[in-house]
Amino acid sequence: MSSYKETLDSLRTSFLSGKTRSEQFRISQLEALGRFLEENKKAILEALDKDLHKGMFESEVSETSMVRTEINFAINNLRSWMKDEYVEKNLATKLDSAFVRKDPFGVVLIIAPWNYPIHLMLIPLIGAISAGNCAILKPSEISTNCEKVLAELLPPYLDKDCFAVVRGGVPETTQLLELKFDYIFFTGSPNVGKIVMAAAAKHLTPVTLELGGKNPCYVDKGVDLYNTANRIVWSRFFNAGQTCVAPDYVLCDTETRDQLVPAMRDSLERFYGKEPQKSPDFGRIINEKNFQRLKELLGNGTVVIGGQTDENDKYIAPTVLVDVKETDPVMQEEIFGPILPIFTVENVEKAIEFINQRDRPLALYAFSPDNKVVNHILDRTSSGGFCGNDGMMHMTLISLPFGGIGNSGMGMYHGKYSFDIFSHHRACLLRNTGLESLNAIRYPPYSERNLGL
Ligand code: NAD
Repeated sequence: MSSYKETLDSLRTSFLSGKTRSEQFRISQLEALGRFLEENKKAILEALDKDLHKGMFESEVSETSMVRTEINFAINNLRSWMKDEYVEKNLATKLDSAFVRKDPFGVVLIIAPWNYPIHLMLIPLIGAISAGNCAILKPSEISTNCEKVLAELLPPYLDKDCFAVVRGGVPETTQLLELKFDYIFFTGSPNVGKIVMAAAAKHLTPVTLELGGKNPCYVDKGVDLYNTANRIVWSRFFNAGQTCVAPDYVLCDTETRDQLVPAMRDSLERFYGKEPQKSPDFGRIINEKNFQRLKELLGNGTVVIGGQTDENDKYIAPTVLVDVKETDPVMQEEIFGPILPIFTVENVEKAIEFINQRDRPLALYAFSPDNKVVNHILDRTSSGGFCGNDGMMHMTLISLPFGGIGNSGMGMYHGKYSFDIFSHHRACLLRNTGLESLNAIRYPPYSERNLGL
């Protein structure tokens, strides 16, 4: 504990020295982060492969190149983001200067999960650096190889007075959370999100919570089956389904279900071959605990695609389930693995009702040949993000904010939103020292003031 406190105190001293405030310092740290990615690419890709059997392409697309894009975007826009924003004034302040200053919070704590261990640690860090904060990073202890890369290879690139990486699991994070940070950015499960928020509340520390849950995917009658199946299968089985924005279950009528299942079988075979276990592009379950949890879910409903498992390899085949009940665990808990249940509903109104009776999801998907149906679902529901006629693609746009609502989290980041979330928007008014006669109206005594009453 005392060493965490010492680390925090020393980062706070650096923060208070003003070191992180200049544009030049922030750019230098962002560039250093870029060099870390380039010079350690092999080690990063190997760690992702060891932890999750992530193929090279998948790792590039969803981890390293997304981070690279965010770094470039921040470097190119930092100067304009940092500028004071001048605001409209009233009569009494006409000759003054009124603006919003984007101030750093101070020392922030960033806690990451294991499923995109590089991306989910470094993209928030880009926001923290851009906004001029110091940071303590706590990677997931479960993705052990990536944790090692972040703890051993990253620190030499960053200013050691301003950034530190802490390794560990629940006990270590619990100790960290006892300290008074200026901001906490947490990505993980809703249950741990509540623990983080409760700990932050003791110090009135503001938080961003990037959480998970069940993302519904409505499929309307008459969709293009080939395209729809490809897009759902890709987004569900990417990273072996261990993605917070993956479609968690499909809602459709029975006729659509009967057409969709063979189309998804074809897509799966095209993507991963007849034996997905042999595909270099299909991932593995992160650990034994999650493997056993997912294996149990295979007992829900009826398996119509996949269902095979190999414990030694932590392999679960891409699986589609039908005939699931609302009360089945697979329809109650976040699946976070390569299993896709299809739950039948009579029509779009019933699908909307089903969605609105549950926690508000991180992402919501609607496929339809009719844009009016997609828009109708968008208008009548609530979720962190929404994507019509595809899965997950909305989060690839740096211009869109990313985050949840309700049980799926609070606070949005990516691109400029990351800079904003790590900045305190400080209200500043710099008054003119003269023109006292204009101020006289607000000074007592008030007894002789005619208010026209
Ligand atoms: P998790 O909540 O178990 O762990 C996340 C982090 O919290 C880890 O660093 C872990 O060490 C720490 N932690 C775990 N238990 C803790 C405790 N009791 N006290 C203090 N710290 C604790 O989540 P996970 O299993 O790593 O990740 C999966 C979850 O994360 C899923 O729910 C998924 O949807 C969600 N997720 C959300 C996003 C998003 O951007 N919204 C992204 C990825 C994952």
